[in-house]
Amino acid sequence: MNNLKACIFCEIATTDRVIDQTDHTFVIRDAFPVTEGHTLIIPKRHVADYFDLNPNETSDIQELLQKHKALIEVNDESVDGFNIGINVGATAGQTVFHVHVHLIPRRIGDVENPKGGVRGVIPAKQKY
Ligand code: 5GP
Ligand code: ZN
Repeated sequence: MNNLKACIFCEIATTDRVIDQTDHTFVIRDAFPVTEGHTLIIPKRHVADYFDLNPNETSDIQELLQKHKALIEVNDESVDGFNIGINVGATAGQTVFHVHVHLIPRRIGDVENPKGGVRGVIPAKQKY
C-alpha cells in the first residue's frame, strides 16, 4: 500500500494499543468485540490476503494464537471455548484489508444454541 495512513492496522501497529508482538506480528484487542476479550493477531507487513503471508508470518501468528488463547483462559475462568476466524476478501466479509486473525473467546450461554459455530458465516447453514 502506498499510503500507509489509509490502513488502520498499520497506524495501530506503532501505538500503545499493541498488547504483544513478535518479529513479524502484533496483537491488539478488537475495538468492536464480538465477545469480551476478542483479540486480533496481525502481521506487521501490510498484506491484505491471508494466503499471501510468508512462513515467518504464519508461524508467528500460530505462536501468538497459542499464547493469547492460554492468557485469556488464565485471566477469565468463564471462557470455555474459542472461535478462530479469518475473513479473506470482501465477498467473505473482510472489512479491513490488512490480514488479521480473529481470536474470539466463547462462554457457556453467550448464545442460545452455539451449534455449528463458524458455519454461521452463512446463517441459514449454521445448524445441520
Ligand atoms: P474483518 O471484518 O475485516 O475481518 O474485521 C475487521 C475487524 O477490525 C472488526 O472485528 C472490527 O471490529 C475491527 N476494527 C475495525 N476498526 C478497528 C480499530 O480502529 N481498532 C481496532 N482495535 N479494531 C478495529
Ligand atoms: Zn496495513
